[in-house]
Amino acid sequence: MRKCLVGVALLVCVFVMVGGVAAAAGFTAGAPGAGDPFFPLAGNGGYDVSHYGLTLSYDPPSNLLAGTAVITATATQNLSRFDLDLRGFTVSTVLVNGRATTFTRSGQELVITPKTGLMAGKSFQVTVDYAGAPSVVTDPDGSIEGWVPTNDGAFVVCEPQGAPAWYPVNDSPRDKATFDFAITVPHGLTVMANGVLLSHLSSASMTTWRWRESDPMAPYLATATLGRFDLTQYEVDGIPAYVAVDPRLSKGQVLSKLPAAVRFYSSIYGPYPFTAVGAVVDSAKVVGYSLETQTKPMFAYMPDEATLVHELSHMWYGDSVTLAQWPDIWLHEGFATWSEWIWSEHEGNKTAHQYFKQMYNTPASNIGFWNPPPGDPGTPVYLFDGTIYDRGGMTLQALREKVGDRAFFTIMRDWAQQNRFGTVTTPEFIALAERDSGMDLDTFFQVWLYEPGKPTAW
Ligand SMILES: [Zn+2]
Repeated sequence: MRKCLVGVALLVCVFVMVGGVAAAAGFTAGAPGAGDPFFPLAGNGGYDVSHYGLTLSYDPPSNLLAGTAVITATATQNLSRFDLDLRGFTVSTVLVNGRATTFTRSGQELVITPKTGLMAGKSFQVTVDYAGAPSVVTDPDGSIEGWVPTNDGAFVVCEPQGAPAWYPVNDSPRDKATFDFAITVPHGLTVMANGVLLSHLSSASMTTWRWRESDPMAPYLATATLGRFDLTQYEVDGIPAYVAVDPRLSKGQVLSKLPAAVRFYSSIYGPYPFTAVGAVVDSAKVVGYSLETQTKPMFAYMPDEATLVHELSHMWYGDSVTLAQWPDIWLHEGFATWSEWIWSEHEGNKTAHQYFKQMYNTPASNIGFWNPPPGDPGTPVYLFDGTIYDRGGMTLQALREKVGDRAFFTIMRDWAQQNRFGTVTTPEFIALAERDSGMDLDTFFQVWLYEPGKPTAW
């Protein structure tokens, strides 16, 4: 992190010395990072992306990805220069508003200096041609993400920092945008990207899959998982559903629960947020986890029922309502964990209270279970620690039991509906909970979210 910052600072110096035109008075460089406490160089400053048009081709045997990204953005300051995030690849051309532009590389930063400065408030278009082997990113907790090759294609999951492994991006969860994908792969392979399927057209040896995500999406939720899949299409109450299963996997009955889970969560959290729904079940043991990629959760293996509904509930909490910064990850994982419990309760199985009670019986001496507190993971090593999920889910069940079902379900619904397609913080959730319940909940949330060790009084 520090090394990259030094590199960027050097570039600034070089630019000021040799760059003339774009450094005109009042035009300054966009920041190389969006300032996230855990991933400070992820995302960039000075502009806001509205759309990504990604035209890609991928050849699995050689693991070569070639792409053209057309990014539509609006400058939020007078920009002399700006960055995109991109890991690896050879970049051949960068155009800004159709004009060839100089660029440099520094770590995950693609540093672009347009011929003339970009005016604040004005829309502009960046085109990046790139090719090479996409990256597999290893996270602080040791898990892998990004564009992960499988034996018949690739499993593409990007939380929290894998998006630049396959496309140039403003990789901040705060900068949501719409996406178009046109992805060409060898005949016989299926590409599963976000949103609705527009077409899949084959030539002699290749097929191009076009998908459109017309709802705002955080960059880390994009996917282009590809391989051999049995693709089933149907509708859930008028919403197109796409379910793709690796044919090598035995057909579980669990996926038949998808429509019922979507209907149940719609009944308690409010209408399903997006224009498509689905699931992709691949055989990607090397990844070993599932991810709530928008409109189509990715499963590295056939999920059990709890995992399926966990990822579907993230469409409300995580994908539609998204954290503004990564330390607030309990707003995703605590909510999805509690969603598993309320589904179980709804199905007439173990209740959320029983889940809570069982976990609460964990002794205080089990420090690993109770720490770190879910509202303060401390370091990205604990971003996906068990406590974020379990104690995060317990926080919601404890809230339910404190304010009562009527207020609690109002809170959950208001949170999803009032922040649809937005980004949020924990203090905003606390404020909403206090407003909807009419109660002072400062101590409650302080104890459950921020104090280390087992909560004993709230
Ligand atoms: Zn989750």
